[in-house]
Amino acid sequence: MFMQGRYGFDALSGFLLALAAAVWTANIFVWGFIPSLILWGVEAGLVALVIARGLSRNINMRALENRRFKKVYDPVKRWVLLQIKKIRERKDFKYIKCPACKATLRVKRQKGRHGVRCPKCRGEFQVKI
Ligand SMILES: [Zn+2]
Repeated sequence: MFMQGRYGFDALSGFLLALAAAVWTANIFVWGFIPSLILWGVEAGLVALVIARGLSRNINMRALENRRFKKVYDPVKRWVLLQIKKIRERKDFKYIKCPACKATLRVKRQKGRHGVRCPKCRGEFQVKI
């Protein structure tokens, strides 16, 4: 089969394609032949890179690239998702940091002082809401 022994698609390729789509979208708003051509070149380069990685037979190297990418990308993604969650739940919950272990804890938004037990380090502390 054609794809046998080839690397295929992964999270890094997905990110590169999303980036290419973002450049494509930005290009709609760019006027002028030269800037447009440059953005088109970037787009084509990204798509070519995704295809080249997909067809690559050096599977170990491509997997290593993907692991390195995820090491940076995953914490960023987690942080962004947490911010979205915080905004969505801002009326009912407050996010605080455990003073002992710095874990992020979610507490109900009820006025007053509350005793909180951190589920991670079992430490207890007071919060004022
Ligand atoms: Zn803690």
